[in-house]
Amino acid sequence: MRSQSDLNPCRMTDLKILVRENVRKLTPYKSARDEFSGKTGIFLDANENPYGNLNRYPDPYQRELKTAISKIKGIEQEKIFLGNGSDEIIDLCFRIFCNPGRDKALIFTPTYGMYEVSASVNDIETIKIPLNKNFQIDLDKTKQLLTDSKLKLIFICSPNNPTANAMNFDDVEDIITNFDGIVVIDEAYIDFSEKPSFLKLINTYPNLILMHTFSKAFGLAAARVGMAFSSPEIIRYFNKLKPPYNISTINQKAALNKLNNMEGVKNQVLRIRRERDKLSMILQKMKVVETVYPSDANFLLVKVKNADYIYNTLINNNIITRNRSSVVDNCLRITVGKRSENDILIDAFYELDHSTLGSQQKEANLNDI
Ligand code: PMP
Repeated sequence: MRSQSDLNPCRMTDLKILVRENVRKLTPYKSARDEFSGKTGIFLDANENPYGNLNRYPDPYQRELKTAISKIKGIEQEKIFLGNGSDEIIDLCFRIFCNPGRDKALIFTPTYGMYEVSASVNDIETIKIPLNKNFQIDLDKTKQLLTDSKLKLIFICSPNNPTANAMNFDDVEDIITNFDGIVVIDEAYIDFSEKPSFLKLINTYPNLILMHTFSKAFGLAAARVGMAFSSPEIIRYFNKLKPPYNISTINQKAALNKLNNMEGVKNQVLRIRRERDKLSMILQKMKVVETVYPSDANFLLVKVKNADYIYNTLINNNIITRNRSSVVDNCLRITVGKRSENDILIDAFYELDHSTLGSQQKEANLNDI
């Protein structure tokens, strides 16, 4: 039987090589709340205003919220980091592991745009491997790049935005085991999927960082709370680098309220999934629609005959979708809304179907036969 280190060449000690030298040597800022974490007393240590309801700085380590997350996700608190949205976590990954102007990150395109933007902000080169025709990772091409010593980060978005599908579990695990750098799996949409989460793998692989968010299934995009799960060693580096009070008290409470009402969250997710499947079935029958790709997320990637025309027509009907034609040919990304909103979208598609474009499409279909 293979031992843990045979399975995964990234041993604990390798973090010393992976983490940027300045980050390893950094003396982090110590806030007043770092020095005294008790909850009662006369607080004269943080130059706060003594009056009001929001006059005190938030808990820098969001302990109450993490206790609740820990129970729900089945993960120890020391393996959890909370960021100002997943976007802050993505940026921190670059700042912890990548030397500007020297190191590289790998992404599988088309995917969530912030990985590349964050790489550019941090002066990191992005290597792109296109997903294959089933929107899965091209494992052969990927494996050829894994030994590049400058490659520090691999981002895997699963379910992927904008293609909506989850990545093959075994392919992802294969990459994690064969890479000495850090693999970041972004599972922002996992609650809408029936496929298994990669979360349990953080206990096996010390080079894995997994991201969840309160922005999607929890319906708290405005609150900006993202979650990272990883080894306690990596979590300590996140804490070392983050701004001291990165999640406001109001937003910590908003997230906590959601966790205290998981029944409500689960029901909403179910409703969205049911609406997604219904919407997918109806759109597939439209003449102006070529393909509705299978979705593990709360949106549909829809290939249409003329994306620009349909996008603009929908806009004229006050329906705003995302035109993703620049990244997937003639595709719109449509978020699943409330039933009443989806019904209006369906009506607009029916009208398009009966327009000139719809008849042209019908003729083209007939010619295909
Ligand atoms: N990851 C993916 C794949 C996303 O599509 C998005 C936002 N659309 C995010 C992360 C952003 O998450 P957050 O709101 O937590 O920053």
